[in-house]
Amino acid sequence: MTNETSHPDLYLLAGASPALAATLAERFTLHRQTPPATTRAIVGGGSSVVDAALLDRLPALEIVAIHGVGYDGIDLAATRARSIAVTTTPDVLTDDVADLAIGLMLAVQRRIVANDCAVRGGGWQVDPARRASGRRIGVFGLGRIGNAIATRAAPFASELHYTARSAKPNFAGVFHADIAELAAACDVLVIAAPGGNATSHIVDATVLAALGRDGILVNIARGSLIDEAALIAALEDGTIAGAGLDVFADEPAVPDALKTMGQVVLSPHQGSATVDGRAAMAALVVANLDAHFAGTPLITPL
Ligand code: NAP
Repeated sequence: MTNETSHPDLYLLAGASPALAATLAERFTLHRQTPPATTRAIVGGGSSVVDAALLDRLPALEIVAIHGVGYDGIDLAATRARSIAVTTTPDVLTDDVADLAIGLMLAVQRRIVANDCAVRGGGWQVDPARRASGRRIGVFGLGRIGNAIATRAAPFASELHYTARSAKPNFAGVFHADIAELAAACDVLVIAAPGGNATSHIVDATVLAALGRDGILVNIARGSLIDEAALIAALEDGTIAGAGLDVFADEPAVPDALKTMGQVVLSPHQGSATVDGRAAMAALVVANLDAHFAGTPLITPL
């Protein structure tokens, strides 16, 4: 059923909270399965796929509103060619994702999850953990989230290192143009750059070897940045010490090998998943859609 005059058709991809869906339902006719050709808006998450095949089926599409900041699943060449607006929800999730990155770093170093399991199983004597303070911390991708991670990491770090597409003269850390160089210079490597072709499998066996046997990998960015098979091998043979992972190559599938490793902490892509963050993201999605359909400037266009 469509009602183009008062309720434009909107294709709601998986991942929207019930509260966001309810707010959208006041303004749009929602479609969760097969979007009609009259669909004027898509709402999806940071990992949603909006490819050329989908766009070709939606000749009336005007806007793709993402609750998230990742847009590696969106065919931007195709949206731009058709002047379809794309919006994301930057800034409102930055602190939450950065908090989780630090939480994963500490959880891996101090064996918080393994110790929790030991205590729940009636245990008390456990192996000593690694000191978390005084480490050399590297951040790959020093944008909004990478900066927030670096700010939080600074009190733990003996040295801060980073890689981005360009050096940041105002940042008090050491720039490395190459991720293998970055990995060699740090004990903790935090991945905070976008997914997509430019970064696909950029953390490979060479980078993991450079990180070294005391090294910890934290990934809150996208699973596509990591060669997951190489990571599993590096964890199995002690090439690196541990990993804290919020994102995976083929979500929601997580390799069984990772689930058996006590030196690994796993998280179900929950970087932005706080009540406060999700509410702010939903409000920004709705504000962008309202602006678009009112003909006023978008709040956070790509
Ligand atoms: P951002 O502000 O755009 O920052 C991206 C950073 O990555 C920038 O410093 C950029 O370098 C750098 N970068 C981009 N391409 C690169 C490349 N090929 N090599 C090296 N560095 C590169 O993005 P953000 O808001 O911080 O978000 C970062 C990513 O986090 C998102 O793309 C998303 O995939 C992920 N994320 C995950 C969650 C979660 O729930 N786990 C939530 C939100 C976001 P320059 O500064 O030099 O341009």
